[in-house]
Amino acid sequence: MALIVQKYGGTSVANPERIRNLARRVARYKAMGHQIVVVVSAMSGETNRLLSLAKEIMPEPDPRELDVMLSTGEQVTISMTALALMELGLKAKSYTGAQVKILTDDAFTKARILSIDDNNIRQDLNDGYVVVVAGFQGVDAKGNITTLGRGGSDTTGVALAAALKADECQIYTDVDGVYTTDPRLVPEARRLSKITFEEMLELASQGSKVLQIRSVEFAGKYKVKLRVLSSFEEEGDGTLITFEEENNMEQPVISGIAFNRDEAKITVLGVPDKPGIAYQILGPIAEANVDVDMIIQNTGADGTTDFTFTVHKNEMNKALSILRDKVQGHIGAREISGDDKIAKVSIVGVGMRSHVGIASKMFRILAEEGINIQMISTSEIKIAVVIDEKYLELAVRVLHKAFELEQA
Ligand code: ADP
Ligand code: ASP
Ligand code: MG
Repeated sequence: MALIVQKYGGTSVANPERIRNLARRVARYKAMGHQIVVVVSAMSGETNRLLSLAKEIMPEPDPRELDVMLSTGEQVTISMTALALMELGLKAKSYTGAQVKILTDDAFTKARILSIDDNNIRQDLNDGYVVVVAGFQGVDAKGNITTLGRGGSDTTGVALAAALKADECQIYTDVDGVYTTDPRLVPEARRLSKITFEEMLELASQGSKVLQIRSVEFAGKYKVKLRVLSSFEEEGDGTLITFEEENNMEQPVISGIAFNRDEAKITVLGVPDKPGIAYQILGPIAEANVDVDMIIQNTGADGTTDFTFTVHKNEMNKALSILRDKVQGHIGAREISGDDKIAKVSIVGVGMRSHVGIASKMFRILAEEGINIQMISTSEIKIAVVIDEKYLELAVRVLHKAFELEQA
């Protein structure tokens, strides 16, 4: 007997028929003698629908109220799932995040899980119930409803698996595993039977939406056995996220390509080139809880320099007003501008450690297509570039081909 957490994404609960299908899979696992915790997302499109409703009333919705609203999507699907399980003759019980007590911090719309009270769930599992938990949501210390950021149901699934010391966390979605890149953009993309945590972490952090980054962080930290599978197919092993690197000569240098259209670039021009400036620019940004991704600063000439960084598109206006109101006058910057027509493309692979010339190859391939690189950042196993968003598809396709990631 194993304890398995199964997480189903939006397309897997998009209508009653799919929910019945999900229930049938759960019933099969239950019949094998396993204990099952199901985590569900809202029906596909529902979170976006709620978001636009809120924006019709308040263009930049108050984050606490927004979370009250967004969390309702998952409250509908937990109940539908429990009902579908009951219809199959199973004992089932649903819980919202607050009912479980998935305790988070109070960073509304992007809260982090602090702890999970597993008492009720364990009791129910021992009593033979399938437990159905709402993804994407929690509750803060004051009892406010919080949400975990888009795609956050993955994190609920993995965090529950960690708290319950589950034997496996299965992420059921609309693709049958993790691919060399998004198969919707590049149909030639290939499914990976395994990928290392390190690589998955980079791919997720660089924008591969198949797993939310925090879910991968949790799985790595708590050693959760994590697998991505198709909810539309009965068979198939999907992709296992592994801890070991393959000791395999055939291992390609690059394992995958991620891309991200969600970032915006902010440039502070004509900044005095002296100690403390980076802190004076980014300090107030961090205080406002705005995440910064890439950062570049030019070498100074004539005593000034330019400073550029990227933030989530949703937070560009917030960051710009902080800089204009609190920073520009203070440090004497000439100009502050924002550009949200950018995209980031990243190549990822543990093979980069043992190969040279990968970055120059990437830059050559992009140059041959006339694609200008605006920013570059690297880690030991990743090279990321920011380019004009209109070249995104082209860049991903040519890199995918040049690094021989296509199906054989
Ligand atoms: P769910 O609603 O099940 O959580 P998501 O839409 O969040 O599903 O994630 C699955 C989607 O991730 C796929 O439909 C696919 O378009 C996209 N995706 C992006 N990069 C990859 C990748 N490398 N491998 C597989 N899918 C990817
Ligand atoms: N429903 C939420 C979203 O659309 C959470 C999730 O699907 O993981 O982002
Ligand atoms: Mg998702």
